[in-house]
Amino acid sequence: MRLVILGPPGSGKGTHSKILSKKLGLKHISTGDVIREEIKKQTDFGKKCREFVKKGKLVPDEIIISILKSTLPDDDFILDGFPRTLNQAKMLDTITNIDKVIFMEVSDDEIVSRLSSRLQCPRCGRIYGKDIKPRSNNLCDFCNTKLVRRNDDKPNVIKQRLRVYHKTTEPLIKYYEKKGILKHVNAQGDVAEVATRVYNAIIS
Ligand code: AMP
Repeated sequence: MRLVILGPPGSGKGTHSKILSKKLGLKHISTGDVIREEIKKQTDFGKKCREFVKKGKLVPDEIIISILKSTLPDDDFILDGFPRTLNQAKMLDTITNIDKVIFMEVSDDEIVSRLSSRLQCPRCGRIYGKDIKPRSNNLCDFCNTKLVRRNDDKPNVIKQRLRVYHKTTEPLIKYYEKKGILKHVNAQGDVAEVATRVYNAIIS
C-alpha cells in the first residue's frame, strides 16, 4: 500500500504515520524529518534548506524533489509532509501510484494551540504535546533525552507555516478528491480515537 498523509502542520501527520507504519508494516518517510536530520549534520542539502525551514517557508520544489527521489522505496510506504505543492504532487504521479491520501482535518485554532505546546526529542524524534505528555518532566520517555521546542514552533513562524499551508498545500485536497483517492478524517480528539478513524479510512 502506498499512502500519503496530508494536513496542516500540527495535525498529527507524524504521530499517525508512525502508528500506521508499525501497524501495517509500511516504511514511513517524513520529508520534515529528513530535512531536520540533514540540517543537524550540516550537509550541503541541509545548508540549502536551513533558512527556509527557520522562516516557516517551503523548501523550493527542485531541492525537495531531488531528496524525495533518492528516499522513496519501490514497495509500500507512507509519505508524511510530501507533497505540499501541486508541482510536487504532479511529479509524484510520474514516479509512483498512490493508493490513498488521508486528509487530517483540524481547525486553525487547535493547530496554534497544539504547536505552541509541542516538544520534541532531539535524539529519537518523538513528539509530545497536549495529548501525549512525557512521564518525567521534559524528558523523553524512551531515551531520557531533554525535550526541546522545534525552532519553527515559535508563534510568528507557526502563523507563517499556516499561511503557506492554506495558500500552497490546501489545493491538493481538490487534486486528490478529483482522482477519487482522498479520505477525510476528523483529526481532533484523543490520539487513540483518531488512530481508529485513520485506520478505518484506509481499509474502507
Ligand atoms: P514538517 O516536519 O513536515 O512540518 O516540515 C518542516 C519543514 O520542512 C516545513 O515547514 C518546510 O520548511 C520543510 N518541508 C518539509 N516537507 C516539505 C515539502 N514537501 N516541500 C517543501 N518544504 C518541506
